[in-house]
Amino acid sequence: MSKPKVGVFGLAGCGGCQLEILNLEDELIDFICAVDIVHFTEAITEHSDTYDIALIEGSVSTKHDLERLEHIASVAKIIIAIGACSSTGGLNCLKNLYGTEKAKELVYGDKKDWIDAIDTKPIDAYVKVDYHARGCPPTRAEIVDIVKSLIMGKVPEIPDYPVCIECKRLGNICVYETGGTCMGPVARAGCNARCPSANSGCEACRGPVDDPNINAQKDLLDRYGLTVEDIMEGFNLYNACKKIEQKNK
Ligand code: SF4
Ligand code: SF4
Ligand code: SF4
Repeated sequence: MSKPKVGVFGLAGCGGCQLEILNLEDELIDFICAVDIVHFTEAITEHSDTYDIALIEGSVSTKHDLERLEHIASVAKIIIAIGACSSTGGLNCLKNLYGTEKAKELVYGDKKDWIDAIDTKPIDAYVKVDYHARGCPPTRAEIVDIVKSLIMGKVPEIPDYPVCIECKRLGNICVYETGGTCMGPVARAGCNARCPSANSGCEACRGPVDDPNINAQKDLLDRYGLTVEDIMEGFNLYNACKKIEQKNK
């Protein structure tokens, strides 16, 4: 059986998600043996335009990004968004809060018209995304699990419960107990509560759970006198695109 051809692409992002794949260490050899990597912006010089699975890092933030994304989607059978930029728009969406034209002016001054920036959006605003490996960056294990599941014909298991579940399982002291804030009650798990385990509040880099009104960790919200709305209000860092979209509805 021939191995699936995989392309790894980068749109507007920092390259950190692609680095996570390169940092797979022991699992990198297994990964390379299981698939045929035909395009990988940060790792190989050869570029093929024939691939079955596209792993896409980064948001759509320029007209050029959009053209590339549409081309990739016209070739790939399966699209996996890797990272917050790709899945929610991520940090790049902060630009939208200023307004794209204003942000261009602030950064590039009288050269702003040289830049083809458009409002930042996650890739699923333009193309159908089959799976998301969320996070900034996503965990290496999750990227590998998704690709391996697809190769084995299984549906990848992607958590849709709050970070608090993982955090409590680890026995962490809640960040609210020490005077901090945390979006764990509504943030999508899957990172093994990486930030609260380091005594730092979750910023929801994996986005919110599906339907936070139903799936939030209600007991914690009640204990600290918070509502889903209170927490969602703080969802700027990685989720500004979603907030702007909701306000414009
Ligand atoms: S999700 Fe984070 S690590 Fe990945 S490209 Fe965006 S900023 Fe970089
Ligand atoms: S609110 Fe944050 S620190 Fe507290 S249990 Fe939930 S994830 Fe952990
Ligand atoms: S704890 Fe929150 S911010 Fe930290 S990695 Fe997990 S989802 Fe992202």
